[in-house]
Amino acid sequence: YKADIAAKLDAVIRRVPNFPKPGVLFYDITSILADPESFRLVIDAMDQRYQKDDFDAVAAIEARGFVFAAPFAVHRGLPLILIRKAGKLPGETISQKISLEYGEDELHVHLTDVPENGRVLLVDDLIATGGTLSGAASLIRKAGGEVSDLFGVVGLPFLNYSDKLQDLEITTLVDYL
Ligand code: AMP
Repeated sequence: YKADIAAKLDAVIRRVPNFPKPGVLFYDITSILADPESFRLVIDAMDQRYQKDDFDAVAAIEARGFVFAAPFAVHRGLPLILIRKAGKLPGETISQKISLEYGEDELHVHLTDVPENGRVLLVDDLIATGGTLSGAASLIRKAGGEVSDLFGVVGLPFLNYSDKLQDLEITTLVDYL
């Protein structure tokens, strides 16, 4: 079943060499969104994977994480928390610096959105080095929540993301080597 999902998604995910810069193979998930059957497959697979999990909220990372977290959250009747770049959220926020391949970035979340001691599922489209999700997990913890699980549609395990994401349960639907 898992191999079947991976094969179906692999068939629709677009590869764009040298984007956004030379040497990077970009896995473009917009081709999943443009195909309703594939999009539904992802949301159904998330639902299946987390059937026995009792989350208090789903947190999504700007911007492509929003797309997959939102239908899942609605389907499960869970609050959706948006994790955004600096300057986007109007309310009181907590922030966390993240180290990217080149330079730094800052993630923000509305303080009041994170449930105190609540169990949060973190969602993004793709896990590469794990830097983004690791920072997002720290951010949620700073805001008073607990992160137990991470979800990415695509995983690039050769970048050793699990080193940065220890003690967290990581789920991806399709992995590229
Ligand atoms: P990282 O923090 O290294 O795990 O990078 C993950 C973030 O960068 C995700 O939000 C992805 O959308 C984006 N990303 C990194 N590498 C790629 C790639 N090869 N293809 C598509 N998106 C990527």
